Amino acid sequence: MWLSLFGTIGLSGYMPITDEIIERERQFLLQTYSRYPLVLQRGKGVFLYDLDGKRYLDFVAGLGVNALGHAHPRIVKAIREQAGRVIHLSNLYYNEFQGLLAEKLCKLSGLQRAFFSNSGTEAIEGSIKLARLAGHRVGGEAKSQLVGLEGSYHGRTFGAMSLTGQDKYRKGFEPLLEDVKFVPRNDLEALRAAVNDNTCAIVLEPIFGEGGIHECSVEFLKECRALADRHRAALIFDEIQCGLGRTGTMFAFQSFGVTPDIVAIAKPIAAGLPLGAFLAKEEFASAISAGQHGTTFGGGPLACRVALEYLAVVEEEKLLENVARVGQHLQEELKLLAGKSAAALEIRGRGFIQGLQLAIPARPIVEQALGEGVLFNSTQDTVLRFLPPFLLEEKHVDKGLRVLKKLLRNARKARDAAAS
Ligand SMILES: *Cc1c(COP(=O)(O)O)cnc(C)c1O
Repeated sequence: MWLSLFGTIGLSGYMPITDEIIERERQFLLQTYSRYPLVLQRGKGVFLYDLDGKRYLDFVAGLGVNALGHAHPRIVKAIREQAGRVIHLSNLYYNEFQGLLAEKLCKLSGLQRAFFSNSGTEAIEGSIKLARLAGHRVGGEAKSQLVGLEGSYHGRTFGAMSLTGQDKYRKGFEPLLEDVKFVPRNDLEALRAAVNDNTCAIVLEPIFGEGGIHECSVEFLKECRALADRHRAALIFDEIQCGLGRTGTMFAFQSFGVTPDIVAIAKPIAAGLPLGAFLAKEEFASAISAGQHGTTFGGGPLACRVALEYLAVVEEEKLLENVARVGQHLQEELKLLAGKSAAALEIRGRGFIQGLQLAIPARPIVEQALGEGVLFNSTQDTVLRFLPPFLLEEKHVDKGLRVLKKLLRNARKARDAAAS
C-alpha cells in the first residue's frame, strides 16, 4: 500500500501499475463506466499501447473520434504551434480560426451557418433550441413538438436524452421534455401519423450508432424531407457518429441524397480535442439572435485550428477514398465470416461505420480480443461495432478478422462443450 502514498504517476518515478490505477478509480470516480481492464498510454497511427508496451490494433478509434489515428504528425504540430500562441479566447472576441472552420464546413455541407459547441450532446441541444425558435416564429407557441426515432441515441443532457428512443438511457431521469413523439425507423405510416403542423423538428441519425448500426432507408429519409417541408419543420440529422467521412462521403447525408435543414457533428471533428457543431440553413439560422445561445469553450482557437487541419488531412491524403475502399473490403470479409460462422448473423452499415450482428453476447468477444491485441467495441449487447481510424488498411482488416474468426470459433466450441 506504500505505492498509494507516492501514487502520482510520473512524480515518484515508480512504474505505474494497472491494478493501482483501476483501484484508484474505483474509489474516487462516479461509477458510470464499465471499463475494460486495460490502461492505454500512447498510440501511433492505427495502434495503441498499454503500460507494458503491448500493442493493440484499434477498431474503436475512441468511439469514432480518432479518425486520423493517434499522434498524427500534422495534428501534433498544429496543437504544439497553437498551444504556444493561444489556447482559449472568449467568444467575446474574434479568433483567427472559428470563421474559417465555419466557412469550410458550410462549403462542404451546402448549409449556411455554423455554431460550435464542446460535444455532440451540446450540438443536438443547440439544434433543438434553434428548431424551437424557428418553429415558434412561423407557427406560434404550439409549434414545439419533436419527432424522434425508436432505438435512437442523441446524448445525455435533458433535451438530447428526451429525443433518445431507448429506455435504458431515460429511465430514472423523468420527467423529460414533453412534446416528443417516437416512430419506428423506416415506418412511413407511423411517420406520417406523427408529423403535423405543430411539429418543429424531425430528428434522426441516418445511421444509428449506439442503436446497433441500423440505416434509415432513402425512402424514409425522403419522406422525412417531404413532411418537414410540408409542415415547415426542421429536418435535423444527427451525424455525430456517422458524419465527417465515416461513410466515405464528408457528410452521411451525401451518401443518402437527402439534405437536412440542420446537421449536428462532433466526434472526429477536431481529431480528439472536444469540439462539436451544428450547421443550419439560413431559413432556420436566422431565427436566433445575439444572447439566445452561447458557450464558454466552444469554437476556441486551438480546437478550430486543429479541426481545419483534420479536414485538410482528410482531403489531401484522400482518406475518404480509403474509407470507401477499405470499408468495402471490411464488409466483404465480414460477409465471408458470417457465411461460415453460426455465431455471426448479419452485417450492417457502410464504410467505417459497420456492425456485425452476433447470435451470442458481444462483450466476451471484445474482452478476449484484448488478449489478442485487437480493440473491438460492442453495442446493444450482441452487436460488434467497427469504427476504425480512416488510416486503416486492408492488411489491418485481415489481421482483425483473423482474430475475430478464431474467437467466434472458440465461442462455438465452448458452447458445444457446455451443451454435450
Ligand atoms: C456520441 C453521440 C452523441 C453524443 O455526443 P457526446 O460528444 O458524447 O456528447 C450524440 N449522438 C450520436 C449519434 C452519438 O454517436
